Amino acid sequence: MNKKTISFIGSGKMAQAIFGGMLKAGFTSHEALIASAKTAATAEMVTKKYEIKTTTDNRVAASYGDIVVLAVKPYLHTEVLNEIKESLKEDAIIVTIAAGVDISYMQEQLSMSSKIIRTMPNTPSLVGEGMTVICPNKNITEEELQYTVDLFSSFGKVEVMEERLMDAIPAISGSSPAYAFLFIEALADGGVRSGIPRETSYRLAAQSLLGAAKMVLETGKHPGILKDEVCTPGGTTIEAIATLEQLQFRGTIMAAMDNCTRKNKELQ
Ligand code: NAD
Repeated sequence: MNKKTISFIGSGKMAQAIFGGMLKAGFTSHEALIASAKTAATAEMVTKKYEIKTTTDNRVAASYGDIVVLAVKPYLHTEVLNEIKESLKEDAIIVTIAAGVDISYMQEQLSMSSKIIRTMPNTPSLVGEGMTVICPNKNITEEELQYTVDLFSSFGKVEVMEERLMDAIPAISGSSPAYAFLFIEALADGGVRSGIPRETSYRLAAQSLLGAAKMVLETGKHPGILKDEVCTPGGTTIEAIATLEQLQFRGTIMAAMDNCTRKNKELQ
């Protein structure tokens, strides 16, 4: 069992996805974790559900962790960093999961020698299929980076990337589960329209997307080739593809991603 202590500042959806994911995978022990919550009711709920220590005092949580994960909204980072900075362990690794909070900003709030890791996870972490992009600052050692990669790998896949690309990540992997849910809902509505029961439609749609994603990852084939392999000449699938192209399916997704990235920059 891993010996590092890990603190979460904030116990919202993503924090729960991450510590829930780590516990489920056995990456860490219940005793090694603490999470702060804004209200006593949330703290109590989290302690009951995850069997970890909780507090409503961010400074108490911050002082416990070798790793301190900031899991509050981006606009709260200044307030929270000011609140906790005197309580942090000297060598604590500060991990932010917030969209658009960059490393230089974090260093300004803390110090140039602080160990900071900027990440962008996503909610499928809850079911062990997360996708997290990680960017360390120069004070993070190879060993510390590897530990963080292992931590996030316990509930999904991890890519280490340069910070200049981080602002584009929310659109492709942070927010994209929401686009996929919309797609699944649309497929299911189409199924219901054709008389397939709703619950069956959700299962058919979700499993088909899961299978398609797995084919991309496991065959290594270009998605266009996999698409071609489903399309019989003169068949039904190419009819559907033609309609999607006429209605600018791909252009629509790319435009949505541009807006996601623009909003991410506006929030900084
Ligand atoms: P959330 O609203 O579920 O969680 C935030 C939590 O912080 C809430 O429980 C809130 O009560 C608590 N909080 C507010 N002020 C606080 C304070 N001063 N001290 C301690 N806790 C406080 O939001 P979320 O979706 O979990 O997002 C958290 C972070 O994760 C954000 O920065 C977001 O950018 C990032 N993120 C979210 C997703 C996603 O899919 N939701 C994906 C990647 C990254």
